[in-house]
Amino acid sequence: MAPDPIDPVPFGCRHCVTRGSFVGGNARTPRDCPTTTHPETSKDVSAYLSPERQALMRVANDAPFAPDGRLRNRVEELVFFARSQGMRRIGVAFCVSLLKEAQELGRILVAEGLEVELVCCRVGAVDHDEIGLPKANPEKFAAICNPVAQARLLDERGVDLIVQMGLCIGHDLILQQEARAPVTTLVVKDRVLDHHTIRALRP
Ligand code: SF4
Repeated sequence: MAPDPIDPVPFGCRHCVTRGSFVGGNARTPRDCPTTTHPETSKDVSAYLSPERQALMRVANDAPFAPDGRLRNRVEELVFFARSQGMRRIGVAFCVSLLKEAQELGRILVAEGLEVELVCCRVGAVDHDEIGLPKANPEKFAAICNPVAQARLLDERGVDLIVQMGLCIGHDLILQQEARAPVTTLVVKDRVLDHHTIRALRP
C-alpha cells in the first residue's frame, strides 16, 4: 500500500504498550513514538514560556491536589482554577436535561464566593422549522438547542469563563466557536452511559 502523503508514519501512540515518554528518556519508547520521530514539535517548549502560559500551566499542575494532599474532584478543581486565575464571574451553558445539576453547580460556585450566570440550551424557544431542521412530528413545536444564544448571552454578562455541561456533540463546538470567553467542559453528554463516556472505552 502506498504511504499516506499526510501521515506516512502513524504515531506510535496508536499501539504503544510502554508509555515510555511518561517516565522520561527514549529507551522504552517504540520506534515510531512521536517523542523521537518528531522532536522538533514534541520537545518544543517555547509555547509554554510566556507569563500567561506559565501561570496557566502552574494552576493546571496544582489543581488536582488540595493543600492536605487529598485529590480534588472536577467541580473542586473548577473552583480552584477559577479562583487561581482571578476569575470572578462564571457562565454555565447547560443542557436542559441537566437543569438541576447546573443549578446545583451554581449554588456551589456562589457558596465559594463566585458570581454565576446560567443559560439553558433551549433558550430562545426557536422551533426546528426556523432553521430548516426536520421534526418527528412536523405539526408540533420542537425547540432547537441554541448554543449561539448561550454563548452570546453569557458573553453579554461579561463572564470570565464558560462551563459547558452536557451539550450535544456539535453544539459544544458551536458554543466554543461563538463564545469570546474561554470554554471548559465539566460534563460530556452521553445519553446511554449517564454521561460516563469512559465506560464505553473500558471493555
Ligand atoms: S508518546 Fe511515545 S511512549 Fe508515549 S504513548 Fe505515545 S508512543 Fe508511547
